[in-house]
Amino acid sequence: MKNEVILQGFEWDLPADSQHWNRLKEMSSELKDYGFTAVWLPPAYKGTAGVEDVGYGVYDYYDLGEFDQKGSIPTKYGTKDEYLEAIKALQDQGLEVYADIVFNHLIGADEKETAPAVKYSWDNRNKPISDEEEIEAWTKFTFPGRKGKYNDYVWTWKNFSGVDYDDRTNDHALFNFAQKGWEDQVDDEMGNYDYLMGCDLDMENPETIEQLDKWGKWYQELTNVDGYRLDAVKHIEFNYYVNWLLNRREEKGKDFFVVGEYWSGDLPKLEEYLDSSGNLIHLFDVPLHYNFYEASHSNGAYDMSQIFAGTLTASREDYAVTFVDNHDTQVGQSLQSWVDGWFKVHAYALILLRKAGVPVVFWGDLFGIPEQGIEPVGEDLENLLKLREKISFGNQVDYFDDPNCIGWVLTGDYEHELSGLAVVMTNAQGAEKEMTISAIHGGETYVDILRNNEAKVVLDETGKGIFPVNDGQVSVYVDERLVEKYYS
Ligand code: CA
Repeated sequence: MKNEVILQGFEWDLPADSQHWNRLKEMSSELKDYGFTAVWLPPAYKGTAGVEDVGYGVYDYYDLGEFDQKGSIPTKYGTKDEYLEAIKALQDQGLEVYADIVFNHLIGADEKETAPAVKYSWDNRNKPISDEEEIEAWTKFTFPGRKGKYNDYVWTWKNFSGVDYDDRTNDHALFNFAQKGWEDQVDDEMGNYDYLMGCDLDMENPETIEQLDKWGKWYQELTNVDGYRLDAVKHIEFNYYVNWLLNRREEKGKDFFVVGEYWSGDLPKLEEYLDSSGNLIHLFDVPLHYNFYEASHSNGAYDMSQIFAGTLTASREDYAVTFVDNHDTQVGQSLQSWVDGWFKVHAYALILLRKAGVPVVFWGDLFGIPEQGIEPVGEDLENLLKLREKISFGNQVDYFDDPNCIGWVLTGDYEHELSGLAVVMTNAQGAEKEMTISAIHGGETYVDILRNNEAKVVLDETGKGIFPVNDGQVSVYVDERLVEKYYS
């Protein structure tokens, strides 16, 4: 079985040149060679900001870069045909393709409507602060540029729970329509975190549910994507996706991978979501990201033996999708919490060279973020990916027995030549760690593939060795014959 690893195939500041689908198509073989098994693509539908929209400001689910709407035919990433070609090219390389599904809101309505609404407190979303009044809301989506192709449904305020603007009074406030209230089972920050932005989709309206289901069928048949990344699930009724996903599964005739973005560092909230959404959806391990963030900004004071404390990887490893950074945590974005550069290789070793969780590598780490002057993590990350693909097999034994210097081994297995490795890392001064890889490797010589340390560690007959690491670094010891085979 292959070791899965997903590429997040975009970052926030990619150029708005409508060429990204073409780039991905041209890079498909290169991406396969890195060792990836899947690529997560950004939202493909037209956003309210047209070519400038990263994809989360959804305007028209049926416009994948095909209609002259919001100032252009293509999206930020290209046209519908280019999108389909990129998916095909990636799949031809044996890569799975995951689509980004944004079902919390629509933005950029074509017309305004008069609608009855009650104003709510921003800080306590359970608290109405006005009587019902008539507001003018931008909630009517007619999609004049598409002219009813594929679907002629017109979205109105009845499809939505609320908005944050009354055009009649120019009032920026939180409005809930027609005393609908908010969805019940959502994140409880500020009392009820159903509302995030734009026109919030009302998942208690049967027409809204029906339209999203129709679209899902159309989209899956058209694109043949292999799985989904679900945006902002903490703002959507927790059990909403159950039927949507079961319907897609039935149409596809097989299981597929799904990961949800529940942005919270609070593990019990993630566990509650898993329980409430029927164990159909993996979740990003946000607590682990925050541990990485904290460790990277603590000048060696972080207790590395606790790096997995309070994480989904530790509590429900089969549902954990691990990552270091993403398009929202990058500098200047809404959830900015960028893991500091010196710790990136530590963090990637902790997700790529261990058995628990499905890891995601961020585009901005692999290729850099030129718009922000951020360099790629570099050759070390590429090496870790290769190690994951080629030799990260066998049993895992942890030596998380020191607040600064931790390590673990993978014993290797019979099927994968030269497999097995020992990782040692420190967030403070240099150290060494005695660890046993496996008696199968007794007498063999192990060296640091990252070339941070020059030691040649000869294992004793039980497979035990003493593995050194330099100040603030990571070393990954592998059979020295592997270095000759793959990297010389
Ligand atoms: Ca919502």
